[in-house]
Amino acid sequence: EASSGEDFQILLSWADKHRRLKVRANAETPEEARKARELGAEGIGLCRTEHMFFEAERIDHMRAMILSESQEERTHYLDKLIKYQHEDMLELFKIMDGLPVTIRLLDPPLHEFLPNSTEEMRALAERIGKSFEKIREASENLSEVNPMLGFRGCRLSVVYPEITDMQVRAIIGAAAEAMEKGFSPFPEIMIPLVINVREIRLLADIIDRSVYQVHRDKGISIPYKIGTMMETPRACLGADRLASEVEFMSFGTNDLTQMTYGFSRDDAGRFIPEYLNKKLIENDPFVSLDQRAVGRLMEMAVKESRARKKNIKYGICGEHGGAPQAIRFCHHLGLDYVSCSPFRVPIARVAAAQANVAEEIISK
Ligand code: PEP
Ligand code: MG
Repeated sequence: EASSGEDFQILLSWADKHRRLKVRANAETPEEARKARELGAEGIGLCRTEHMFFEAERIDHMRAMILSESQEERTHYLDKLIKYQHEDMLELFKIMDGLPVTIRLLDPPLHEFLPNSTEEMRALAERIGKSFEKIREASENLSEVNPMLGFRGCRLSVVYPEITDMQVRAIIGAAAEAMEKGFSPFPEIMIPLVINVREIRLLADIIDRSVYQVHRDKGISIPYKIGTMMETPRACLGADRLASEVEFMSFGTNDLTQMTYGFSRDDAGRFIPEYLNKKLIENDPFVSLDQRAVGRLMEMAVKESRARKKNIKYGICGEHGGAPQAIRFCHHLGLDYVSCSPFRVPIARVAAAQANVAEEIISK
């Protein structure tokens, strides 16, 4: 046991000398971030901020914010939420000291946050001191038939820019505090579910203003980057135009697969196994990257955006980012990093090295 552990450490240190791809982790909690660092992650490639609001009191404030009737009411709840966001980000910046942390703006499929039964609505109404009728009405107004294709990602920021403002003030405020305490935070703010450059311009404007506000208030300047998720076919098709507005692009192959194939990522388990048995397609597209489908969109997006702008960083943060075959493909595409769940980081380090070594052998 002990010696196989040691052997694996030797293999990993060898792999690190031979890979070109960086390996980051998808992490939101301090435990995940610590684990990621321990396993050799070179940063956080995806911090899903919506996951940071699922617990206890936070979820009530989050629900209340989403169900607010006015901007004033929303701001009231955002003022509560900013404290959690700040504390959580501060902790992540400390743990990831000196490494980049990619924080994705809120991307809640709304159904995950709406109360989904009359009992839940009643309980929420009581806890936040609002009438049950109002809660029910607001929930009905926001309920969608296809929430995964609905009011998500940057669409939320377009309609409610104050949510983004809260998040950015918390992120940059936490980075400023981390810096004052001697840490080196590198926040990278990532915009989810983008389809076109106008969305990015609008969001980048909100982000820059909020950052400026913190810089001015604290008399400090935090280096930060703005980037986009590449998880809609529309974004990949217009990548050259998106390039002019961002410093990094990260492929979200979970949604990109769903939208490319039209297979629901949440219901896939129900019919995909039987469907796959018929051999009409080779592999489960949620597990392996099809080079003629999602892989092709990625290739096109990288080529066309790179032709427009040289110094963009490219990553992948969907589930495929931790799968050896997909990692090989990402290596060949010339991505800068893959990001996967902390436990897959060691495997990703080895797969990245294998891809590079295989390439060197072939080219000799
Ligand atoms: C993705 O869509 O691939 C992604 C990383 O985002 P999420 O899984 O949170 O939708
Ligand atoms: Mg996604």
